[in-house]
Amino acid sequence: MINAIKNFLGLDIKASKYALSNDPMFGRISDAKKPDKWVFSTCGYCGVGCGLYIGVKDGKAVYTKGNSAHSVNMGTLCPKGLSEHEMITSSNRLLAPMVRKNGKLQNSSWDEAFTQVSSNFKSISDKHGSRAIGVLSTGQLLTEEFYTLGKLVQLGLRTNNYDGNTTLCMASAVVGYKQSLGSDGPTGSYEDFQHANVIVLVGANISDNHPILKLHIEKNPNKPKIIVIDPRSSKTAQMADLFVPLKPRTDLALFNGLAHIVLEQGWENTQYLKANCTGLGDLRKHLQNYPPQEVANITGIDVKTLYEIARLIALSPASLTAWTMGVNQSYMGTDTVSAIINLHLLTGQIGRPGAAPFSITGQCNAMGTRETGFTSSLPGYRNYGDEKAASQYASIVNVPLEIIPTQRGYKYGEIIEAIERGEIKALWVVATNPLVSFVNQDRLRKALAKLELLVVQDAFMSDTAQLADVIFSAGTWGEKEGTYTNSERRCNRANKAVNPPGIAKSDFDIFLEFSSYFEGVRELIYPSWTSPADAFEEWKRVSRGQLCDYSGMSYEMMESHGGIQWPCNEQFPLGSPRLYTPDIGFRTYDGKAKLLPLDWIPLQEPENEKFPIILNTGRTVEQWHTRTKTREIGILNDLAPEAWVDINPADAHVLQVKSGDRLSLSSPRGRVENIVVRVTQTVREGDVFVPFHFNTQLINQLTPSIFCPKSGEPNYKQTAVQLHSIKVPEGIVMKPPKISGEISHETIPMTTPKIVSLQHEVRV
Ligand code: SF4
Repeated sequence: MINAIKNFLGLDIKASKYALSNDPMFGRISDAKKPDKWVFSTCGYCGVGCGLYIGVKDGKAVYTKGNSAHSVNMGTLCPKGLSEHEMITSSNRLLAPMVRKNGKLQNSSWDEAFTQVSSNFKSISDKHGSRAIGVLSTGQLLTEEFYTLGKLVQLGLRTNNYDGNTTLCMASAVVGYKQSLGSDGPTGSYEDFQHANVIVLVGANISDNHPILKLHIEKNPNKPKIIVIDPRSSKTAQMADLFVPLKPRTDLALFNGLAHIVLEQGWENTQYLKANCTGLGDLRKHLQNYPPQEVANITGIDVKTLYEIARLIALSPASLTAWTMGVNQSYMGTDTVSAIINLHLLTGQIGRPGAAPFSITGQCNAMGTRETGFTSSLPGYRNYGDEKAASQYASIVNVPLEIIPTQRGYKYGEIIEAIERGEIKALWVVATNPLVSFVNQDRLRKALAKLELLVVQDAFMSDTAQLADVIFSAGTWGEKEGTYTNSERRCNRANKAVNPPGIAKSDFDIFLEFSSYFEGVRELIYPSWTSPADAFEEWKRVSRGQLCDYSGMSYEMMESHGGIQWPCNEQFPLGSPRLYTPDIGFRTYDGKAKLLPLDWIPLQEPENEKFPIILNTGRTVEQWHTRTKTREIGILNDLAPEAWVDINPADAHVLQVKSGDRLSLSSPRGRVENIVVRVTQTVREGDVFVPFHFNTQLINQLTPSIFCPKSGEPNYKQTAVQLHSIKVPEGIVMKPPKISGEISHETIPMTTPKIVSLQHEVRV
């Protein structure tokens, strides 16, 4: 298995396919270990949504294997998917609810935990108003659970200060889609990777973050031109025909510049624009501010290359632009998303096979919370403040209109600020771990210390759970049932294979039972509900007629077709692979997409004398988020046991460090010690990269409280830092680098650096 995974981490798509084919591996299972049954399910890690089977023996999950009939992954899984069953038996699992007594968390009954939290919520609500309760959830629950939680928070507890960690990764895509196309909703499909003639990957290191998508590119018979736009020559850049190493956070200027060239050269699709778009005049005028030479100066990409990229995208029969956190996690993330959409609208590269602006979601069910969860909109993408939509929703679910929130409450970062101000007194954190994942950790810790009550609902004793006053112990993937919707709008079944440990309960059961502790709430919002299927049936009725229409789906259909893409209704009985085709109009008031004039803004925290290096953070294929799920999986930790810092040879020379040495990093907000060095030309001089997963080297101690004003998404990707080496005296700071724009396309080693002799010092 180790060899299989190592091969996969290489750059040869063919090798990876061979390596991860499940048949040879599972053909070797001895009879004694063979599962008694295989349970159909979907991977619970990333937004790719791979189909798989969970092997169960004697009531325990013992294997995971890919579903070879599944269109998403065709039997293949990445290292996390292959070892997913091991997560279930982690020694870090929470077996029972816990209540803090005399400063110590102690196991409790469910009644004690629910009573304590409900009585505190009631008294805080009575004294300070219901909005003094805040809720932070996740992209990891099942859709049925998101819908159930949203109702409890907004209609039961009556607080709209409800958001999720999806705001830390996808909020800019959500708001960008809304402001350009009238609704959230990824426009394309994975099959578009198989149809496109040009594939642009911008801020999307799919090799680490969505590795299975490479298989769809490999199946493309058109030999597509692959353009990778990224300041870092990531593993994904190794597969590019054209690698575009732009300067950090200049992506919006780049897309404005490409749109300028398209109009200057007459490469726009006039017929498409006339029929489908508004705003061309204003955009044309605005783009005069982005002439090619100016854009070349901003981005570091030469004028000739800009023309070549614009030509390829505009004139190819079908162009796909896929993006992820590199675009979204930005102080101008929303507008960068809209700038990408502008380019696709101008060139008519949307709504056809292979032609789409396409966001790739981070988590297995980030889509579920966007659609059902009351976070960024009312269920079914109904806008807050739209009276007709609110009244329609109230009537479908038979609740009084007055209890439907009329506006969105605080976003994630605003919830933390409201805690700082003493406005929010109680926080309920569900299946997320802000004490590793949120920016500016010192500030966050101080804010959380001000709470009167911190409730954490999780399957694992996370860093955040350790601070809780009360813990609700939850089941995890494989222990509960429902659906996940992946990046391409495909809703698929995740079935229960085993029971939760101890007296832990599924999140769905926790929400239902907890609601009984508030007078009249369960009867009002969950009348006669007993199982997730009840939530799904109501969700189907709520989504009927909306863009995200699930009304034609059933659990049985999902299992027989390997998931169904919404919209699914009478018109599209088996779903639709893409949006904004001639049959699916834009959801704006006039039915036309909006071309928007958007401004590029220079870095909010640029490098300076004291902090002359730009830190970029991100993920690695072997670990998941804050490692609550992966920190005990041997194979993953053998491959990536700790954080590392990628540093350019020129900077390494100044610091007198080589690969395997250790460095410290500091920013105006804190310092992180003892990070192992990897000297590499994959990062430009003046930039470094560190993965964010590790609480042992908590890189979010350094990241700033800078957010996109429209989406609330943090700007994780550019932090001004200083590097410290034991060989260079502390008082001496590195000089501000000369940003040369030079970056090498060198081959990246198979795995992250593994310093065997130091592992015991740094393992969690
Ligand atoms: Fe799971 Fe994503 Fe890996 Fe597929 S690519 S197995 S969905 S983590």
